[in-house]
Amino acid sequence: MIINNYQGALLALLTFTLTAPCASAQQQTSVKNIIMIVGDGMGPAYTSAYRYFRDNAATPDIEQTVFDRILVGRASTSPASISGYVTDSAAAATALSTGYKTYNGAIGMDVNKQPQQSVLEFAKSINKSTGIVVTSQINHATPASYLSHVKSRDMYNDIADQYFDRRINGHFSADIMLGGGKVYFNRDDRDLSNEFSAAGFQYLDKYQGLSQINSPQVLGLFADKGLPWALDDEQSQRLKTMTIAAIRQLSNNKNGFFLLIEASQIDWAGHANDIAAAMAEMDDLSSTVTWLETFVASQPNTLVVMTADHSTGGLTIGANDKYQWTPDNIKNLSASPETIANQQNTTDFDGQQISQQLGFSLTSDELKILRQAHAIDSQALTVAIRQLIDVRTNTGWTTKAHTAVDAPVFAFGAEKERFSGQIDNTDIAKTIFKLLGK
Ligand SMILES: [Zn+2]
Repeated sequence: MIINNYQGALLALLTFTLTAPCASAQQQTSVKNIIMIVGDGMGPAYTSAYRYFRDNAATPDIEQTVFDRILVGRASTSPASISGYVTDSAAAATALSTGYKTYNGAIGMDVNKQPQQSVLEFAKSINKSTGIVVTSQINHATPASYLSHVKSRDMYNDIADQYFDRRINGHFSADIMLGGGKVYFNRDDRDLSNEFSAAGFQYLDKYQGLSQINSPQVLGLFADKGLPWALDDEQSQRLKTMTIAAIRQLSNNKNGFFLLIEASQIDWAGHANDIAAAMAEMDDLSSTVTWLETFVASQPNTLVVMTADHSTGGLTIGANDKYQWTPDNIKNLSASPETIANQQNTTDFDGQQISQQLGFSLTSDELKILRQAHAIDSQALTVAIRQLIDVRTNTGWTTKAHTAVDAPVFAFGAEKERFSGQIDNTDIAKTIFKLLGK
């Protein structure tokens, strides 16, 4: 085997020398399109939980998920040492986008607050089309780290301004931007959506518009800030819908494209300790990635890499000293716990309505707990519903924040093996830069 590998390497070297004497070795890759996916907060417990959530109990086997099918390794996620071991989304996204470890809160900047080029920006500099598709506001930490450079993730307006103001060889950094965030782009001091329209971008504010894209450059803002929870959205598979629309446009460039996709709200469900919302967000991501498998089958020079920036909530699949996790009770919700609580009349408590929306009948003890929470306010009722679901499913949480457990790494398509094994989150950017020829 050693000899075979050596011969293979020698052959590759000879082939390379004969066919491309002037090009650098990095340019000898078969990758034309790169799709980077971030499942925000999607630590390993989330992909495992999703497998059991989707398991068909009528069969003895536990069916494989798309996440099982494409797993290649895992990545450490710690930020620069000044921020300890537990990363936030900004530092992790900057590691994934630039290859630099930085402090928590930094967007596209290193520890010395120096801007660092992102893989998306480099892709644009070599004339690829570029895009971002997210379920948060499009200027939230993860997409911002691919498209802007600021000291703090809280600088939402500055980030939005940079989306318009920064140019790469005279071009906008991103050709397609889909997600939420109207309040940051339609402001009193600056109307960025107007500026983008005047510059030739098609502006969309309804999902229906995604099927009528007629411009290579699109700004689609479908909510004031983040999109509704998948459980509440008119389009429960909105990430998939936006992804298909984006790739349809980006594919028109013969030089290829770089697309960042983020399932942003897995993290938000983790912070809220809401397992029902988390699984619905995972379901949207699962459909998106399954669709991408068919795209890559038809475009084999495409690479898809997916990871999480960190895990959120300290999710455990089983809790309270019991060997049990029973997700059946989160399969039939007609709305998120937050919306179910908000839809309760402020004066009268309607337990039957809650039961209908949850998809299971409530015991008198459960009704009593919810009634007491309702008497406080809708926030208390939201928390009570989430906790009731935790008890029903025996789901555990250890924190409302992030944890430093390694993130799973997934890849398929061209050059996928470059991401296998135990790596660091910065390696993902470094390898993408190499594949792009930097
Ligand atoms: Zn978070």
